Amino acid sequence: MDNNLQYAQERLSNIRFALDEQLNDPTLDNLDDGSRLKSFANLQHLKITEGVTPKLYESLETVLDRLGIPHQSVEAFVFNSPEIQAECFSLAGGQCVLRFSSGLVDLLDNDEFKFVVGHELGHFLYSHIGLPGEGVGRTFRQLKQSRYQEVSADRVGLIGCNSLDVAIKALVKSSSGLNGSHLRFDVGTYLNQLKKAEEHSSIIEEYSTHPSSPLRCKALFWFSLVNDPLQMKEETLLAPMSEVDNRVSRDLIKYSESYTASLQLQLLSELELWSKLDEVSSKGSFTKSDQVVIADAFGPEMLQKALNFYEGKTASEAQEHAKLKVIQFRQQLHDLGY
Ligand SMILES: [Zn+2]
Repeated sequence: MDNNLQYAQERLSNIRFALDEQLNDPTLDNLDDGSRLKSFANLQHLKITEGVTPKLYESLETVLDRLGIPHQSVEAFVFNSPEIQAECFSLAGGQCVLRFSSGLVDLLDNDEFKFVVGHELGHFLYSHIGLPGEGVGRTFRQLKQSRYQEVSADRVGLIGCNSLDVAIKALVKSSSGLNGSHLRFDVGTYLNQLKKAEEHSSIIEEYSTHPSSPLRCKALFWFSLVNDPLQMKEETLLAPMSEVDNRVSRDLIKYSESYTASLQLQLLSELELWSKLDEVSSKGSFTKSDQVVIADAFGPEMLQKALNFYEGKTASEAQEHAKLKVIQFRQQLHDLGY
C-alpha cells in the first residue's frame, strides 16, 4: 500500500466515531483488483476527468489534496440515474473507485459535491466493508455498525468540503431531493424536526443503513464544535473526541436504537429464564421450591410458561429443549448487536 495513503489513514483515525469499530473482515485481505468494475465503468459511465468534466475533476482533486490521498489511488465516475446515489468500492493495492449518480451531481453545487466525495473517501480510508445483501437479511448488529460508519464518513466529508454549512446543505439537499431554490438553510429549525420524532422513534430507523438526515446533521454539528474544519489541514487532528462521541451515541440510541434496546431487555429475560430451566432440568425434576424461585425471579406469567413447557416432557427432553432455547436467544441477542 502506498505510504501516503497509510499516512492519510493514520491522520484521520483520530476522528473516527468511537462506536465505528475496525472490523477484522477477511474480505479486506482478498479485495478484488477491480479490473472488471473498471472496464464496466469505463464502458457504461462517464469518467471524471479534467478534459470532460473540469469542475467535478477540480472538486475531486481538491478533496484528495485535503485528505492527503494520492491521486492515482482513486478513479471516479458518473452514472446516469435520477436517484441520489454515491458509492465507494475499495480495491486491492490501496485503490478505490467512486461512483456518483447524475441526479446527485446535478443537485449539488461544486462545494457540496466535495462533501459527498469526502464522505465516500472516508469509507475508503476507514476500510469500511459494505454490508452483505440488501436491507432485509441484515442483522440489527450489522445495521447499527453501518450507521456508525456513516457518522465517521460524514466527518471526513466535512474535512473534504471544509465547511459545516456546506456539509449540511449537501445532506439536506441529498435527503430531501430539493435543489437550493426551495431551501433556506436555517439549521436550527431543521434540527427541531428531531424533537417531534422523540416520542415515537421509528422502527424504520432501526432497519436503515444510514442514520436519518437530521441526526447526521446534528452529529456533524457536535463534531464541528470541537473540530474547526479550517484547522483540519494541520498535520494532526487532535480534539477531545470522547465527549463528542458520547453525545452522538446518545442521539443515535435515542432515535435509532430504542426498539432494539427494549427488545434486548425481553431477550435477556428470556435467556435468563431458559438458562434457569436448563439448570433445573438437569436435576430431573421441577420441584415446588424451583417453582417459587422462578416465580420470584421472573413473575407468575413466566412460571406458567415454564409449567406448560414441562407438561408431557421427560426430564431429558426438557433439558435438550431448554438448551436449544438458550442457544437461540443468545444468537438473537448477538444479532441485535449486544
Ligand atoms: Zn456512506
